[in-house]
Amino acid sequence: MTTKTKWSMPLWQQVFIGLVLGVVAGSMFQEHAEDFKILGTIFINLIKMIVGPLIFFALVTGMTSMQDSRNFTRVGLKSLTAYLLTSACAVVMGLALGNILEPGIGLPESVKDIIHHSSVAGAAVPKPPTIGQFLISLIPTNAMRDMVEDHYLQIVIFSIFTGATINMMGDKSQKARELVHEVASICFKMIELIVKLAPLAVFGFMAWMVGTMGLDIIDSLAKLMLAVLFACFLQYLIFGVLILIFGRLSPLPFYKKIIDTQVMAFSTSSSKATLSTAMREVETKMGVSKKSTNFVLPLGACVNMDGTAIYLGICALFFAQVFGIHLQFHDYLVLILTCTIGSVGAAGIPSGSIIFMGMVLNSVGLPLEGIGIILGVDRLLDMVRTTVNITGDAAITLIVDSSEKTLNEKVYYSKTVKPAKKK
Ligand code: ASP
Repeated sequence: MTTKTKWSMPLWQQVFIGLVLGVVAGSMFQEHAEDFKILGTIFINLIKMIVGPLIFFALVTGMTSMQDSRNFTRVGLKSLTAYLLTSACAVVMGLALGNILEPGIGLPESVKDIIHHSSVAGAAVPKPPTIGQFLISLIPTNAMRDMVEDHYLQIVIFSIFTGATINMMGDKSQKARELVHEVASICFKMIELIVKLAPLAVFGFMAWMVGTMGLDIIDSLAKLMLAVLFACFLQYLIFGVLILIFGRLSPLPFYKKIIDTQVMAFSTSSSKATLSTAMREVETKMGVSKKSTNFVLPLGACVNMDGTAIYLGICALFFAQVFGIHLQFHDYLVLILTCTIGSVGAAGIPSGSIIFMGMVLNSVGLPLEGIGIILGVDRLLDMVRTTVNITGDAAITLIVDSSEKTLNEKVYYSKTVKPAKKK
């Protein structure tokens, strides 16, 4: 049964209104900042409630839609290589800009003081894993526990193993295949319902942010913020170049049709919360095939975070400059590795990468003190890097689909966007 609602303002407009009202409410009722945050936290919790199963069922659905295992291996390797290479390039760009723009040089004495002596702030940061611990932890020792505890990378590995096994069993696993596809549609529907609450969540988060964060901190860390914003903007342009060269497509329709997804990412600071919107948009507006939408995009949401990679790289240089530590060539190589790993491992939730910042700084012997001060502007930068994260996932999905010749170019280039199908 379909119920018709007369009021059908597009979600991104509702989100935008939530954003503006949040800024107003936050500046007027600063004492209630923490109360406003409750709205946003409820939304993120709802997303977290379903995102583990969503990723598992979407990935297995994507894999089992590719009947031929060679097909899956090729698409899987292609996607992973593209994701890892773009992340590593993002880190290199972050490091280069960190060197050119020197965000950690010329800070006001008061800020330097806080960073140097902020053991309290440093203590609030969770203990980071070593690279070895991180690699070992990738293999699930208990897949069910990883599901329950939202360990996304382990879920990805378990999903790939499950999908590959279902494919190997051929006709014998037909029922499992159908079941997985049906459960995946239930997960999509649930996310679709939860996402309707996004405007409220954005209102809450904005009001909290504006209410708690003084403008002074933005002012003193302006150089760091500008460096991150500039690098993210460059990365955004690079996606267009990649679409042109490797996808052999004009990037203009991509930039036009990705906006709703970006608004969602910008306002929720969570690529996981944006995944379902992105999946719907690339399929219905850009003409990406169902199998790429179900496989390449969720994989990207789990392993590919270019904005996060940039952020980790620039922050590492920021701290090196603040503490006057001169990094050697091999330090840069280590940073490229750890920032890439950090961007792969970060959970796609607000401030999901902070724990990995500890790992990155540790890897080249930079002190962890002072991460606390970054937390002050983290949320603001998180909005931008999450937008870049999900844009990168969508761009690679488009490129892979085009290279597989499964992209519907007519839909991609069409000006009239057909409305998203209700599942
Ligand atoms: N918030 C980011 C995301 O969801 C992760 C991060 O960089 O903190 O993509």
